[in-house]
Amino acid sequence: MTKELHWKSAREIRDAVQSGAVSATQIAQEHLTRIDAVDGRVDAFTQLWRDKALEMAAAVDAKAARGETLGALAGVPVGLKELFCTRHGKTSCASKMLENFESPYDATVVKKLEEADAVFLGKVNMDEFAMGSSTENSAIKTTKNPWNLKCVPGGSSGGSAAAVTAGECALSLGSDTGGSIRQPACLCGCVGIKPTYGRVSRYGLVAFASSLDQVGPLTRTVEDAALTLDVICGKDVMDATSAVLPKTDFMGALTGDISGLRVGLPREYFTDALNPEMREKVECAIDVYRANGAEIVDVSLPCSDYAIAVYYIICTAEASANLARFDGVRYGFRHPDAKTVKDMYALSKSDAFGPEVQRRIMLGTYVLSSGYYDAYYLKAQKVRALIKKDFDAAFEKCDVIASPTSPTASFEFGSKSDNPLEMYLSDIYTISVNLATLPGISVPCGLTDAGLPAGLQLIGRPFEEDTLLRAAHFYEQNRGFDMGRPPVA
Ligand code: GLN
Repeated sequence: MTKELHWKSAREIRDAVQSGAVSATQIAQEHLTRIDAVDGRVDAFTQLWRDKALEMAAAVDAKAARGETLGALAGVPVGLKELFCTRHGKTSCASKMLENFESPYDATVVKKLEEADAVFLGKVNMDEFAMGSSTENSAIKTTKNPWNLKCVPGGSSGGSAAAVTAGECALSLGSDTGGSIRQPACLCGCVGIKPTYGRVSRYGLVAFASSLDQVGPLTRTVEDAALTLDVICGKDVMDATSAVLPKTDFMGALTGDISGLRVGLPREYFTDALNPEMREKVECAIDVYRANGAEIVDVSLPCSDYAIAVYYIICTAEASANLARFDGVRYGFRHPDAKTVKDMYALSKSDAFGPEVQRRIMLGTYVLSSGYYDAYYLKAQKVRALIKKDFDAAFEKCDVIASPTSPTASFEFGSKSDNPLEMYLSDIYTISVNLATLPGISVPCGLTDAGLPAGLQLIGRPFEEDTLLRAAHFYEQNRGFDMGRPPVA
């Protein structure tokens, strides 16, 4: 093996462990050493599960020694976003509110990874309760972009994207409510897929906005995204919104054949709001499809202008309901100075929720309050239906939609954190995909002059992740350059 073990893809690691060329323990040790070497600068990991990782790896090796067949992710080292419930360690959602919370159960996706013989290295950073686009809203620490330590990794799954990109783990699970897998994947230069709403169980994912949240992988290759999605997807009796679907073979969908593929370009996405350098990178990516026989078609998503407003009404409304449970009684921080019940609520919540979370709870409570419900929440639901209709119409003319993932490359710490609106605009190309419950993937498509990654977003029809992954894989294999390794490497 020439490539250092920590740069191997999940599929390469799995193959090597299954064939006995390397042990899961060696893989785990190599990654723990890697984390020791770089995480002091990247700060992706919030909890390092050294003993747990070695214990899980030893269990995989023991299974191999008994001659048992190993799972599809045998020995693959994983970092879990802080909002997946795990019996081991804490599930803090990067919030003071849950800093000591120990979940009594594992999320379904966590269980599925473990059953596939993956190895958990620990948990990784995120924006508090997944609200944000830079991971600056974490109450735990500041995660850096491995391409430039002065820049943000994106968010909310910033720890996931940074850890994967810096070679600290081959795979990380994130969640995406409005772009939180795709946007950090774009800003860090890795692959991130948000599956169709209902594809993956949300059981044990601490809820932000329940009609938008989906779980998905961040990886360094499209193949690893397909491999992981095959493992984590499927109907779950514990999540009524998970869909009953035929057994998937996303790995098998990566045929390298895009003949007949129609790629739609939404004219509303290629405007002045898009940074010229990002535009150029994305247009070069589209040229790869054009040059290889795909049909490029013009499509229109006329309601795009309303997406941010609609998203920030719906997600805050749902968040205000979901976060009501963190009251210091059943869950969460309870302020020691509270003398009355009312005081307990007020002091606990204002002390333990950060400013962005408080802002969203207040906004959400407002749009749901009597008198404003019709004017804001109900209206937003109606426009959400129109946004979905736009996509339905576009998908009559094309099979996938191509766009930038983010309007700009990564930015410096503090440059947007005082201006929530500017931060919200980071999600302009990703949130409609959640509102319309569609699958979307971000694939790296080059580096800017400043050496920061750009990302191509592909959007698919509901439950057509196979087409999406095939198209993304084709581009990755034919883009004609290698993204290289971030300087932190
Ligand atoms: N950045 C968006 C927000 O702040 C999306 C977050 C997410 O997808 N969890 O809400």
